Amino acid sequence: RRCTWTKNAKQDGVFFPHTYQNWKRSEKIQDNVLQLIGNTPMVKLNSIPKKAGVKCNVYAKLEYFNPGGSIKDRIANRIIQDAEKQGLLKPGMTIIEPSSGNTGVGVALASAIKGYKCIIVMCEKMSNEKVAVMQALGARLIKTPITADSYSAEGIFGVANRLHKEIPDSLILDQFSNPGNPLAHYDTTAEEIWDQCDHKVDALVLGAGTGGTLTGISRKFRELSPQTKIVGVDPVGSVFAVPDSLNKTDVTFFEVEGLGYDFVPTSLDQTGADHWVKSNDQESLTMARRLIREEGLLCGTSSGAAVSAAMKIAVHLKEGQNLVVIIPDSIRNYLTKFVSDNWMEARGFQISKNVNKHWWWEN
Ligand code: PMP
Repeated sequence: RRCTWTKNAKQDGVFFPHTYQNWKRSEKIQDNVLQLIGNTPMVKLNSIPKKAGVKCNVYAKLEYFNPGGSIKDRIANRIIQDAEKQGLLKPGMTIIEPSSGNTGVGVALASAIKGYKCIIVMCEKMSNEKVAVMQALGARLIKTPITADSYSAEGIFGVANRLHKEIPDSLILDQFSNPGNPLAHYDTTAEEIWDQCDHKVDALVLGAGTGGTLTGISRKFRELSPQTKIVGVDPVGSVFAVPDSLNKTDVTFFEVEGLGYDFVPTSLDQTGADHWVKSNDQESLTMARRLIREEGLLCGTSSGAAVSAAMKIAVHLKEGQNLVVIIPDSIRNYLTKFVSDNWMEARGFQISKNVNKHWWWEN
C-alpha cells in the first residue's frame, strides 16, 4: 500500500492531517564564509548525564558548526586579521603554520578566500581526513614523525622555522604564542557562553591543545563570574595538568587529537583552570562514540575526553546548576579512525557491542 498524502491519499484510505510549524528567521546573507565563524549553538545533553546519575544541566557548545568544522576557525581568522592589520601579512605571501590540523583547516580556509599561499606542518599522528580537507582547500602539507620532539629539527616547530628561512615572503602566525589565539576566545567564545546560559555558568569543562580556548575563556570568566569553576582536561601522556605530579606516567603516545603536548605552550595559562582532570584514550574514544550514538552529536575525540571529564565533575553539582562543555571538532576528521569498529578493535579498544554491532532489539 502506498503511503502518501498526495491526491491519492483518500482513495488509498491513508490520510495524514496537515500540521504546521512556525518558521524561524535565519541570518541574512553573508559576504563570505568567514563571516559564519562563531555564534555556534549550544545544546543540552540528555541520555549521557541521565545514565551517570547527574542532576545538573549539562550543555554542549557545538564548535563543529563553524564553517571549517572546528573551534580553531575562530583563532585562525583572528590571527590572520591581526597580522593584516599590523602590516605583517600582505597579498601574495605564504602562511606557514604548525598545527594538529584544525587550525590548519581554518588557516587554509581563510587563505583560500583571501588568496594567501598556505603550508601546514603537522605530526603524522593526525588523521588523513584532516590532510584531505586542507589539500582540498589548496594548502600544502608537511608531515613530521610521531617520534620527533615538537621543538627538534624534525618536529613541527623545527620544520616550520626551516621553511620560514627558506621561503621568501613567508610568515609563521604561531598560534602557540600569538595573543590573538586566547583573545579570540576572550572576545567571542566566552561571551557567547555567558549569553547563551543567561549569565549562569557554574562549571566549564574544556580540553587544552595550544590552551588558547582555556586561557581566553577563563580570563573572561574571572571578570564576569569569578565563582565559575573551570576544569582543564589533559590526556595521560601530556604535561599540562597542575600539580605536575598528575602528569607522571610511562605513556608517551595517545590517540586523542588536538589535546596535550610534550611542552607547555606560551598560549596556555595553566592557572586558568581551578582543577585539572587527566583523560585516557579508552574513556575518551568510548565517550565520543556515545555522544554520536546517544546524543546525535557528530563530534571528535577531544569532545569525548571533555565530556567524560565533565561527567566526573557534574555528579558533584546540584539540580538547576549549569555545566558547559566544549565540543571542539567533528566526526569528519575521524571517519577512518575511532568511528570505525575495525580501527578500534585493531588497537585493543573495547567497543560497546550492543550499541555498535547489533540492532538495539538484538541487545
Ligand atoms: N580539540 C581539538 C580537536 C583541537 O584541534 C584543538 C586545538 N588543538 C583543541 C581541542 C584545543 O584547543 P586549544 O588549542 O584552544 O587548546
